[in-house]
Amino acid sequence: MVAGITVEHIRDLLSKVLDPEVPALSIVDLGILRDVSLENSVFEISITPTFTGCPAMKVIEEDIVEILHHEGINNFKIKTVLAPAWTTDWMSPEGKKKLKEYGIAPPSQSTEEHLKAMLSGRKKSVQCPFCNSLNTKLTSAFGSTACKALHFCNECHQPFEEFKCH
Ligand SMILES: [Zn+2]
Repeated sequence: MVAGITVEHIRDLLSKVLDPEVPALSIVDLGILRDVSLENSVFEISITPTFTGCPAMKVIEEDIVEILHHEGINNFKIKTVLAPAWTTDWMSPEGKKKLKEYGIAPPSQSTEEHLKAMLSGRKKSVQCPFCNSLNTKLTSAFGSTACKALHFCNECHQPFEEFKCH
């Protein structure tokens, strides 16, 4: 164990772990990192997968291990927390901004709003990350991964992905 390592230090290191699907975002931006605590000289790192069975989680875990081992930190364990389930509400405002700059529409509404819209059959159109137009259409419910949907902007004629609300 390395002396003088604090929970803040661990958090700081983990903010460098990027999401394999959206490399512009760290697991902190996405809210995947739930908690870091220190108990009996062991850091417990709690992570919640964005999607259950998302293959990205395996990569994220390996990256956490690698980044901490690189610093000579071995006294930690990774705990996967499935409840409460991850929602896009956990994504930080900074994360949503970075997602848009990356060319992916961030979740436009909270999970609650999304559910209400689904139930009422009214789904808000997704804003184009390139020109901010709302004149867009859903072309595929599944983009490059199950976590994203594919849209097309009628204004700037570009396809774009949306990080789905759930
Ligand atoms: Zn557009």
